[in-house]
Amino acid sequence: MAKLGWGLIHHRDTLWARVLRHKYGCGDDILPKGIRWRVSNGARAKFWTDRWVPNCNRLCEVAVAPISNSDLNASVSSFITYSGGWDWAIGGPQSGDNNRCWKAIWNLRAPQRVRSFMWLCTHGRLLTNAERMKRQISEQADCDQCGDAVEDTLHVLRDCLKVKEIWMRLVKPCFWPEFFHAELRDWIDMNMTRKFGVFELEWKEVFATACWSIWRWRNEQVFNQRDGLPSDPVFTILHRVRMASEAAFDVLNSGKGPPCRVDGIVKWKHPETDWVKVNVDGACKIGYDRAACGGVIRDSEGRFIAGFAKNLGSCDALAAELWGVRMGLELALEMGLKKVVIETDSACAHQLVSGQHDRLHPHMPTVFMIHQLLARQWDVRVHHVLREANRVADFLASYAPRDSLKLLRLSFPPHAILPLLNVDPSGIGVVRAPVA
Ligand SMILES: [Zn+2]
Repeated sequence: MAKLGWGLIHHRDTLWARVLRHKYGCGDDILPKGIRWRVSNGARAKFWTDRWVPNCNRLCEVAVAPISNSDLNASVSSFITYSGGWDWAIGGPQSGDNNRCWKAIWNLRAPQRVRSFMWLCTHGRLLTNAERMKRQISEQADCDQCGDAVEDTLHVLRDCLKVKEIWMRLVKPCFWPEFFHAELRDWIDMNMTRKFGVFELEWKEVFATACWSIWRWRNEQVFNQRDGLPSDPVFTILHRVRMASEAAFDVLNSGKGPPCRVDGIVKWKHPETDWVKVNVDGACKIGYDRAACGGVIRDSEGRFIAGFAKNLGSCDALAAELWGVRMGLELALEMGLKKVVIETDSACAHQLVSGQHDRLHPHMPTVFMIHQLLARQWDVRVHHVLREANRVADFLASYAPRDSLKLLRLSFPPHAILPLLNVDPSGIGVVRAPVA
């Protein structure tokens, strides 16, 4: 059978092969049922013209840019690096300038989402109002923010009035004429390969981070009807660039080989409109025999609704975390909240609460009470977040009174957490140290 399959592929023009292909309804490139093609080391399979990706058409049919004739014959193996990963730089457009820009994008010291975003921009894939109208998912192409012009990629990222001010602070005035007049593709190319910046940071990273941030703020405005622009957008952009670059530096200099997880910047995320978010935390001081929990409830704007803190006396860290979840849920229920996201930074507590537990677990009584609370008539989701996205709750756990076991209910935020309460909704994150 394997021999027959081999013949069907490599002698496809012989009479017997044509008869068999016709009889079994195979196209020019589909193997008969039951015969599978193993790509193996990729030396024989053609990257663009063979159907080698499971459940996918030939890649040349789904390519987003023209493929040169010489590339059409490239093998799968020519797109693989020595370390066995995909060589994205080769995978992009191949002609000189394009290739340079492509490489610059994939080498950006920025989170993956920023690189992917730039890739979408270069391919005109951003779902601006103009693009949505072209695809018949919207009836108006005008910009929602200024109402002044058609919202295409260049307008949303560069030319819209509010956005223009940001660029004028980031780009040296002597470059304004060419910066503000280039066409989309040239604009991205020149910013990825030249230096236009006022500040002493790598320009391509500032540029890409600014584009990505501007798009995020635009989406906040369009989809959440919220002015997404922070009070000082330039500061926010530069802060993001510095954080990402420090994270990249730490990774390169950790000296422990590649980390198993690098999370980059972590931040608190707004719950959806109409939902509230309850961040809870437990703290346990070994040797002090003192555990506590705390939590905060905030609305979709990040505004403080209520908080709590409780001294738990003597118990272990997991118990403190679970008590945090329980008390956060009780407080939200008591306040009549109907759509609640509860976040804990304890993976273990999250696992127990989400149902992945054994019945003999020592903390089962608390978990059982939490399950009863979750089963009430309300929409409630339990999420695990990293510590850096849970800082207000972390603070409140340490705010519990030392001399009393009474629950402290807070209708107003303590003065000391105001800076943290302001930072969370602003979208400014904290660098997560790489975990080696
Ligand atoms: Zn506009």
